[in-house]
Amino acid sequence: MARCKSWRPKRHAKHPVPTKPGECRGCWTVCRSRIEPGTVRCDICLEALITHPDPEVRRALVVEEGTDLNTLIRLASDDEYSVALAAEGALEELDNQTVQTPDPGYDPWADR
Ligand SMILES: [Zn+2]
Ligand SMILES: [Zn+2]
Repeated sequence: MARCKSWRPKRHAKHPVPTKPGECRGCWTVCRSRIEPGTVRCDICLEALITHPDPEVRRALVVEEGTDLNTLIRLASDDEYSVALAAEGALEELDNQTVQTPDPGYDPWADR
């Protein structure tokens, strides 16, 4: 069973402005929730990172390998311009990849 290895932000009274992921064990904890095989992190961690107050954390999520389409679409309308821009760039790249790969619905062996 796959497990989420994501840093999960948590409230830390000492740091009203949270540190970068992993820098402080009070601000971040390693998640160990079960996840679907093939996914990177659980929904709770994902949600926490999408809504994280630090734009750098949100931007890191954008450039991360394997961030899913829905997340990128949400971050494309981020209040922070640099995050939205990065997300749009990632979406465009995803678009280009989709164009290059053949339509999986097309079966050359199908008898039509
Ligand atoms: Zn802290
Ligand atoms: Zn998690």
